[in-house]
Amino acid sequence: MSTAARASGLYIDGEWRDAAGRIEVLDKYSGDVLAGVAEATPADAGDAIAGAYRASQSPLDEGERARILLRVADLMEERADLLVGDYMGETGFLESDARGELRRAAGIYRLSAEEALRIAGEQVPLAATPGSENRLAFTTRVPVGVVVAISPFNAPLSTVAHKVGPAIAAGNAVVLKPAEKTPLSAINVVQAFADAGLPPGLLQLVCAPGGAIGPALLGDDRVRFYTFTGSTAVGRVISAGAGLARTHLELGSNSVSIVAGDARLDDVVRLVATAGFRKAGQVCTSVQRILVEHTRFDEFTEALADRVAGLKAGDPRAAGTDVGPLISEAASRRAATWVETAGRSARLRVGGERTGSVLTPALLAEPPEESEVLTEEIFAPVVSVVPVRDLDDAIARVNAGRYGLQAGVFTQDLDRAFHAARTLRVGGVMINDTSSYHADAMPYGGVKDSGHGVEGPRYAVQDMTDPRIVVLNLR
Ligand code: NAD
Repeated sequence: MSTAARASGLYIDGEWRDAAGRIEVLDKYSGDVLAGVAEATPADAGDAIAGAYRASQSPLDEGERARILLRVADLMEERADLLVGDYMGETGFLESDARGELRRAAGIYRLSAEEALRIAGEQVPLAATPGSENRLAFTTRVPVGVVVAISPFNAPLSTVAHKVGPAIAAGNAVVLKPAEKTPLSAINVVQAFADAGLPPGLLQLVCAPGGAIGPALLGDDRVRFYTFTGSTAVGRVISAGAGLARTHLELGSNSVSIVAGDARLDDVVRLVATAGFRKAGQVCTSVQRILVEHTRFDEFTEALADRVAGLKAGDPRAAGTDVGPLISEAASRRAATWVETAGRSARLRVGGERTGSVLTPALLAEPPEESEVLTEEIFAPVVSVVPVRDLDDAIARVNAGRYGLQAGVFTQDLDRAFHAARTLRVGGVMINDTSSYHADAMPYGGVKDSGHGVEGPRYAVQDMTDPRIVVLNLR
């Protein structure tokens, strides 16, 4: 990639632009400055929307969309070393996370390419309406037009792929606003689209702090769809500013896994030790709370405490590190305070010591019911275990909370598994797996304060197109 492009977070109408302002992108472990990215202004956001609107008037045909998306996936894989290096620096995540997310992102663009070739309407039977006997009706699906995609710091390749892939597959023009802490991955993706031959205007990039250009991106009637992943607080701002445009809001959670009395504890401990601490717990479906039937609580807590005490925190580039830094020292300080407060009255506390932005993996057993570690989203390597009477008690606690993204349920009993799947008010229930299970082809989204709208290329392409009914009067 050229040096100019490398330093710019502004790609409009097929050109990398310079700007007066710069966003300093820091290495999240060392604090070194990795890049000074040209920062978009509200006027740039207006230009981006205007150019996207113009480009959206001549959508690509489906075959061309698919060809470009497949080429983007190939280019990302060919450029793996560059993408992985930038990703690791700007996120502070491990190389395994970087390579895993790159693999996923390429897969999401390939799934999106397949969906571009499957877009289809349906024949609509009108015979029940008197006077419609000689009419033939069918729908075609047309692109919505301009999609604004706003993404979070914690999955800068896959959340962007889940927005841009389906939006392009559906024939739309996209204005992408990635998280200001992790813009390099988005810049690399936009370069791949440019090199794959996407015509100017169909993918615009505006890097800037959300509060600075958010108002210019919201409430613009030319935008027909806002796809947002981030915190619930910002999700409310997007919802309020979206006007009549449709939205996908993929928001926060304090995700739960439930362990019934008959669960295979070894499996649970093994899976949770990864799913609670991967990316230093900065995953929206990260296991934050484990509700364990009281008969197995002590046995489970002991086994998990051993496991958590063995996880190593520190330099994400060093061999043997399990948990790297949090995205900022402020995030680490907040999480450490929550652990400290809850830990004072918890039955057991392991870890939770802070050095700069690194927090050692923490486990709390029976923290107070109203403590933040249980009720808020912690987004840090902190897991709490809570004893419950039985499965219904666990389900009632989950349903009483404000979030509803995904839940895991561990049981060997089919009736209990189905009972949980039917009654938990969440977007997805994973049986004998944690809340963190995710395959990119599946429908994925939350309910309640975790948002609405479903990602996964097949579902997002459907939502990012409108049905147009065509009726033929065959006299
Ligand atoms: P965030 O809400 O702070 O920021 C997300 C994006 O919104 C960023 O690009 C930011 O610049 C932008 N933004 C901020 N204020 C804005 C405004 N006023 N107008 C327009 N845009 C604005 O979230 P974050 O800290 O980057 O990411 C972590 C959050 O994302 C967590 O809450 C996590 O649960 C959530 N998340 C959810 C999912 C999911 O699928 N449900 C996936 C990943 C992350």
